[in-house]
Amino acid sequence: MIEAINKFLDGSTDGMIALQTLLTAIPAISPSSGGEGEDKKARALLGWLKEQGFSDIKQYDVPDDKVPSGVRPNLVVTIPGRESGSVFWLMSHTDIVPPGEMKFWETDPFKATVKDGKIYGRGVEDNQQGLTASAFAALGLIRNGITPKRTVKLLFVADEEVGSDFGIKYLKDHFKLFSSSDLALVPDGGDEKGEQIEIAEKSLLWLKFTVKGKQCHASRPDQGVNAFEAGSYLVMRLTELRRIFPDRNPIFEPDYSTFCPTKQEANVPNINTIPGDDCFYLDCRVLPAVPLKRVLDEISSMMKETEKKYGVSVTVETVQCVESIPTPEDSPLVKALSQAVKDVYGANPHVVGIGGGTVGAFLRNEGVHTAVWSTIEETAHQPNEYCVLKNLVGDAKVMARLMLTL
Ligand SMILES: [Zn+2]
Repeated sequence: MIEAINKFLDGSTDGMIALQTLLTAIPAISPSSGGEGEDKKARALLGWLKEQGFSDIKQYDVPDDKVPSGVRPNLVVTIPGRESGSVFWLMSHTDIVPPGEMKFWETDPFKATVKDGKIYGRGVEDNQQGLTASAFAALGLIRNGITPKRTVKLLFVADEEVGSDFGIKYLKDHFKLFSSSDLALVPDGGDEKGEQIEIAEKSLLWLKFTVKGKQCHASRPDQGVNAFEAGSYLVMRLTELRRIFPDRNPIFEPDYSTFCPTKQEANVPNINTIPGDDCFYLDCRVLPAVPLKRVLDEISSMMKETEKKYGVSVTVETVQCVESIPTPEDSPLVKALSQAVKDVYGANPHVVGIGGGTVGAFLRNEGVHTAVWSTIEETAHQPNEYCVLKNLVGDAKVMARLMLTL
């Protein structure tokens, strides 16, 4: 079975280039980045999928009045498996980021150009490599009359680059697509040897602190309450969170939770006024083993202490809070992926965690074991973005193995 699929994939380079060429010619840029969304590209992809013989394709349109078509389309292609029940998802995104300054491009970003074993163009790596590889992996099974073990679903989502509100976030909130026994591969991140299997993210917490005191002339501090001074004290107290949560996890870099004061809003414009307001932000990236509730409790007691010490009032607002559930290292998904990467690339894969913020977290938080993996040279979002043809074929082989074994 594997031999037949590998033969099909080795002979599919031209077909892969053709799909990349088709998709690259239709920029799918978010309206917030000045584009018209994914509609035209999704239609072209849908046409291609039908032409290839995929028969079960569902489209999930998310309404968006900021694009001419009025919708942001998401596609799900189903290849029924031998065993009913749980699903193996392969999720990639159709949207791209703008090309940036054209003078840095050596080729037309919207015309796929093949040169020295690579395809150049905006989107060819991020995320059309994953998209194309997953489609051809499924074709490898279909063309050889092979039924996957569990049902395979190729998920092509919109809006990944700017927050996923019209993509995976909407799908999980409005359609019951995922179950906690599902497994998912997100081929949208990795390294050039295919050795990194990302299975976890730090939880993300962004907080906005507002300290209120009383403004007065700087010559009469006795008549006011200096919010800046109290805020500065609180900032230093907050950095002690690093000592309070000393946990380590070697799959992350750095291997500890981080708590960083970042942005501070401007206060008074002149030197001789004591500011009555102080407003600053804290960026926390917390190891998944530490519940955010514990972090928030510590922060709350530091705020109370500051209020008491300085006679100010302190409030906190959550700007963003994503508690992360890691995929276990011994998940069948991680084991099968490691083995497939070893077999196809002869590489030595290892699991990693990252500082937070990929679409993998949305699936993990639905209870779906999710690995982010691909073999890429990380040219995403750069001028002269490229996809290495050898990796495109190799990644398709890895995905086909997963379809057979999971
Ligand atoms: Zn991407």
